[in-house]
Amino acid sequence: MSVYIPVELQRQIRAKFAGFCAYCRTAESLTATTFEFEHIIPLSAGGGETAFDNLCLSCPSCNRYKASRQTVVDTGTQQ
Ligand SMILES: [Zn+2]
Repeated sequence: MSVYIPVELQRQIRAKFAGFCAYCRTAESLTATTFEFEHIIPLSAGGGETAFDNLCLSCPSCNRYKASRQTVVDTGTQQ
């Protein structure tokens, strides 16, 4: 789903994450791709909003992998 994110909000999210993917910490400047704005709580989950506290900067790989997931198993603790 493509959602319009106002330019000023995009600028704020880029500044918050300093150009790094929120998940894998890859620097956007070191890639040939444009990073994406990802909803932490997905809109499809019904509780997410297109707002500063619910958006992060994500590389395309992490965004596709996360998709609508909201939880993961910790590989260290297996919980
Ligand atoms: Zn990433």
